[in-house]
Amino acid sequence: MSVKENMLEILEGIDIRFKEPLHSYSYTKVGGEADYLVFPRNHFELARVVKFANQADIPWMVLGNASNIIVRDGGIRGFVILCDKLNNVSVDGYTIEAEAGANLIETTRIALRHSLTGFEFACGIPGSVGGAVFMNAGAYGGEISHILQSCKVLTKDGEIETLSAQDLAFGYRHSAIQESGAVVLSAKFSLAPGNHQVIKQEMDRLTHLRELKQPLEYPSCGSVFKRPVGHFAGQLISEAGLKGYRIGGVEVSEKHAGFMINVADGTAKDYEDLIESVIEKVKEHSGVTLEREVRILGESK
Ligand SMILES: Cc1cc2nc3c(=O)[nH]c(=O)nc-3n(C[C@H](O)[C@H](O)[C@H](O)COP(=O)(O)OP(=O)(O)OC[C@H]3O[C@@H](n4cnc5c(N)ncnc54)[C@H](O)[C@@H]3O)c2cc1C
Repeated sequence: MSVKENMLEILEGIDIRFKEPLHSYSYTKVGGEADYLVFPRNHFELARVVKFANQADIPWMVLGNASNIIVRDGGIRGFVILCDKLNNVSVDGYTIEAEAGANLIETTRIALRHSLTGFEFACGIPGSVGGAVFMNAGAYGGEISHILQSCKVLTKDGEIETLSAQDLAFGYRHSAIQESGAVVLSAKFSLAPGNHQVIKQEMDRLTHLRELKQPLEYPSCGSVFKRPVGHFAGQLISEAGLKGYRIGGVEVSEKHAGFMINVADGTAKDYEDLIESVIEKVKEHSGVTLEREVRILGESK
């Protein structure tokens, strides 16, 4: 029996697509194919895929909304597990529990509908709940670590565990999941009762600020670099004269120099070359070494 036949038999009933191009799933609109792109509908299907992959010694990785990644042009070997069908969200008092694939922006709107405050900061972050926990996503003074109560994970070895916020050792755009290789299955957020109108006004204000400052009309991965201590990446890039600097089809945004936008069918290689070049030029100009926030995955072509 071939690997593919064996896989189809063992993973029967699970939505698996073979040699699936990833560029259409990714916010940057670049990237090659996944050998096997899987859409589990529940935790059991996800665990079955991980178990099969581990036993068959096939690499696997999980993605949320693909808003903080660049998939290289050669694609990703093995399984890519997309969590977007694990998207149930429930509210119990002041707590929201959301599955990993739930859309973060939609989750903040659910908080608004229940007049719960604390989630406003995330109203424009286009990730999934799982990706946001993994990255400790944040904006405008808030971050996931401020509201996360606990999360359920599937460990690399296939065990389900509940982790407290403390276990996640959150830091700036960092959580312990980045080292452990676990999959976030769901997360519980502690919010507080608020005033619907006040929460809405704050979300509208933050949305307006984003629209003013960010090139949301182009494909991008948000801020490419972490904020260097004592500086802003966008400002350093701008001061180095790099607004509008372009390699291939990817360019440093004129509107927000911390963003790199795909303006003309750019490739992952264009992104990588531009990132390297910007790091070098900013270092020359200001002495600061920028560190990537965006994660680069897969193989070069
Ligand atoms: C226009 C724009 C604006 C943005 N603004 C912000 C902002 O203000 N603040 C901010 O912090 N970020 C911002 N981002 C970046 C991005 O939205 C966040 O980092 C988000 O948390 C990524 O979530 P995701 O589901 O898209 O993750 P993905 O891009 O799919 O994955 C990112 C990483 O998380 C891992 N991962 C995803 N899901 C899981 C899971 N269930 N379990 C374990 N690991 C997982 C992946 O393996 C990968 O390594 C922005 C991006 C864009 C395009």
